[in-house]
Amino acid sequence: MSAAQPAICQREIVVLGAGQDAGAPQIGNADDTGPRLLPSSLGVIDRENGQRFLFDATPAISDQMAMMDRIDPPKAGLGIDGVFLTHAHIGHYFGLAYFGREAAGADRVPVFAMYRMAKFLRENAPWSQLVTLDNIALTEMEAGGFTVVSDEFGVLPITVPHRDEFSETVGFLIMTPDKRALYIPDLDSWDDFAEAGGGMLSDLIGGVDYAFIDATFWDDNELKKPDGTGRDMSDIPHPRVSATMDLLADLPASERAKVQFIHYNHTNPIRDPDSTESKEVEARGFNVARRGDRVCLAQ
Ligand SMILES: [Zn+2]
Ligand SMILES: [Zn+2]
Repeated sequence: MSAAQPAICQREIVVLGAGQDAGAPQIGNADDTGPRLLPSSLGVIDRENGQRFLFDATPAISDQMAMMDRIDPPKAGLGIDGVFLTHAHIGHYFGLAYFGREAAGADRVPVFAMYRMAKFLRENAPWSQLVTLDNIALTEMEAGGFTVVSDEFGVLPITVPHRDEFSETVGFLIMTPDKRALYIPDLDSWDDFAEAGGGMLSDLIGGVDYAFIDATFWDDNELKKPDGTGRDMSDIPHPRVSATMDLLADLPASERAKVQFIHYNHTNPIRDPDSTESKEVEARGFNVARRGDRVCLAQ
């Protein structure tokens, strides 16, 4: 007997983009012929409840929602039951503009944001118009406060250290009855996170089934040019993929396999699935998230 056909997954995550805010090729890089990247975003489809959610609203939201629509067509209108925003950097919230008058003219799309992020949207044009015209309906989340969306879906924001000019920055714990996922696309460092009371990355991974975490840069040499010139990276934050793998090297294989590196810069060699660095990630038991990846959150 062959194995039973897998049932349709009741709840799943779709990787809608895995690049850094500016995607790739990045502006001003006309000769970049590498793989195209859209900014990091996750879609969650809950078929049991007929709901769909977005994690981050990127400048590529039209393409990203089209991908989700092809997998699970909207029931009515845009069919978005919640957008969860990590912070006010371009790759993570600019897409909200497409809910406005010039594009979808949406009707009260629920947007979940932390206090400063919500205030920023309410008080600054053009975002404030989305609020006054009721294109979006803002709900404020609290650090450590669990947002219950349905009996089968909840989200816990986790504050992370980052360049917080306009908003605080959070990652999210995505909670469902069977499985949990972590989404932390952007932070300064795991040491700073631990010092601020966030705990150890290995413990965070221990509490989830999938961990989508910051992979902005590969290592400290990445912005150097072959002739030795280029940008000094010592003062540029973000954990390096190579260092994060070292940090987690002693974890059992089952723990390492939960890691899905996401939010990689256009200069990061893991952008190319065939690169030596992508193969190294795989050989060390970790994963690189790719646009179109799908993981099932139901048993
Ligand atoms: Zn970012
Ligand atoms: Zn950022």
